[in-house]
Amino acid sequence: MLANMKRTVSIPVNLPRERFLPLMGFCADIFNQHVDWALKTRTYNKTKAHRALYADLRGQYPDVPSALVQTMRDNALEAVKATKFQRTPRKKPTSGLRYDKRTMTLRGHQLTLSCLGKREKLILNVPEYFREIVETWEFCAATVTYSKQSQQFWVRLVFESQPPPTVTQGKVLGIDRGLYHIAVTSDGQFFSSRQVRATQRRYLHNRKTLQQKGTRSAKRRLRAMSGREKRFMRDVNHCVTKKLANLTGVALFVLEDLSGIRQKRRGKKMNKWLGSWSFHQQDLFLAYKAEALGKRVVFGDPRYTSQKCNVCKQIRKTNRTKSRFHCRNCGHRDHSDGNAAKNHRDDYILSTTSMGTVEQAAVNLPDVTALAG
Ligand SMILES: [Zn+2]
Repeated sequence: MLANMKRTVSIPVNLPRERFLPLMGFCADIFNQHVDWALKTRTYNKTKAHRALYADLRGQYPDVPSALVQTMRDNALEAVKATKFQRTPRKKPTSGLRYDKRTMTLRGHQLTLSCLGKREKLILNVPEYFREIVETWEFCAATVTYSKQSQQFWVRLVFESQPPPTVTQGKVLGIDRGLYHIAVTSDGQFFSSRQVRATQRRYLHNRKTLQQKGTRSAKRRLRAMSGREKRFMRDVNHCVTKKLANLTGVALFVLEDLSGIRQKRRGKKMNKWLGSWSFHQQDLFLAYKAEALGKRVVFGDPRYTSQKCNVCKQIRKTNRTKSRFHCRNCGHRDHSDGNAAKNHRDDYILSTTSMGTVEQAAVNLPDVTALAG
């Protein structure tokens, strides 16, 4: 049986500081007292800890809901258990607070959190791309964190869902990511990045101007801009990977394993306008979205895929000139990213089948799935 799929959704929230900061401080102390007790008595037994500490802690912190005292106890004892008494786990007064079904409820977009005194109710501002998860998956747990720097509370909600049946009928689709296109597929679909590049160039220009200024306010604006830039790329990545994952008739996506080759193949220019985190994020988003549809994502060896002719398989550096691919051996012409995408697809298919042509292997996908699963 397949394990449940899990997703974490992080959303900034406005919580009253005067209620939640003291709560976090009290909870940190409750946690730390349990750790001290466990290290002293050399046990992480929950019942014993409850008997030894609970009444006293209720006296010290009468406003902390008892369910949260219990959560802190469980967290502390689990932390001691995990380190086998070798270290002293510590919570700071602003460390994140773990909530579960006893201390938090989620109805639609309305979140209710245990706090000092009465519970705190708020409406979550759920971004469009998280909506399906928040509205249809099962909520299991959450953490409330506080960033001292931005003075902002965040909730990280964890959801789970049973995986859909694996798609076994369908084709293998190779995907290449390039300088001129966010994604090019082996069946010739182009996901253009002209808009993205224009925006990225504007960011780059503004960044340079601010860096040259070097004043304190320029640095502050740089930080704010970096946040905006990341959010922009995240939205682009969500959008493109959603389209890719939903392509009909596809059972398996082959991406190039990007760890380690970026600097070689893409060149400096590429690294400048798209950081490695953006590629990594794209991989992650596609893997998540594909998984939720019962489709799979695999990573292939990217070496020579941009120089290799997809028709005659000869590898030559001069075959590729920017976006144009022209084989010096057989004369085959293609878009260079399209040629690379086909190579990703064929390399993967050939690596999982010892016989037959590429076309046969594509039809025999159930075998491919069994092999790689
Ligand atoms: Zn060729």
